[in-house]
Amino acid sequence: MSTYVVLLGPPGAGKGTQAKILARETGLVHVSSGDLFREHLSQQTELGKLARSYMDRGELVPDEVTIQMIRERLERPDCQAGAILDGFPRTTVQADALEALLQEHHARVDLVPLITAPLEVLVDRLGGRWTCRAQGHVYHEKYNPPRQPGRCDIDGSELYQRDDDRSETVQRRIQVYFEQTAPLIDYYRQRGVLLEVDGTQPIEAVTAILLQAIQAVRTARV
Ligand code: ADP
Ligand code: ADP
Repeated sequence: MSTYVVLLGPPGAGKGTQAKILARETGLVHVSSGDLFREHLSQQTELGKLARSYMDRGELVPDEVTIQMIRERLERPDCQAGAILDGFPRTTVQADALEALLQEHHARVDLVPLITAPLEVLVDRLGGRWTCRAQGHVYHEKYNPPRQPGRCDIDGSELYQRDDDRSETVQRRIQVYFEQTAPLIDYYRQRGVLLEVDGTQPIEAVTAILLQAIQAVRTARV
């Protein structure tokens, strides 16, 4: 039986941080649309070039190419047991596509934690975020600093500040979240899978709530 978890929440809420920990603890694969786009960017593929023009402005990459990229990722064998989706879906069109895709595999979205935090917290977090070049591990200069400045604790690679974490782009990304992604809150509430989580708690406290919820979903179905 598979388990698909969708992490929902504005930029800076802590989705990527939690997804990496949950993947390690549950054995489910972490699928991050942002990380996949950034891989395309660094390999300078056609998709990477297209995505960059949207990402630099804080806009969403068009649904069609985003859905195609995620479909290919989810159809790889390592996702058959499920996945932790982080940053996808971000529109109702994407959510419908995910539902259809999972249905083909007799699966569904089992749990949608909505991680929230006030605007000023999001802005403060994104402004101090440092990301690992190799695998996208995330740190914060104040709230989650690496042991050695500028180096990832986990794989030793260089940490960098994302271009889209600059303040003008941050404002636009948060606005885009409220306009285009927030409708998914009701979408998943209606399907009975939404779980609201206060993302201002310490990282470990959020993880504990999410792990317990995933465990509950898994045991409810065996
Ligand atoms: P998202 O993927 O939702 O955009 P991230 O997981 O990248 O968010 O987190 C954004 C920033 O906030 C990172 O710098 C991260 O280290 C930090 N962060 C994540 N969760 C917490 C938390 N619970 N408390 C304080 N800082 C956090
Ligand atoms: P964050 O969690 O901090 O908002 P992400 O790494 O998830 O950042 O996303 C970075 C950028 O990648 C977004 O601003 C958007 O341009 C693009 N992107 C990521 N996921 C999607 C998606 N599901 N649909 C459209 N664009 C996306």
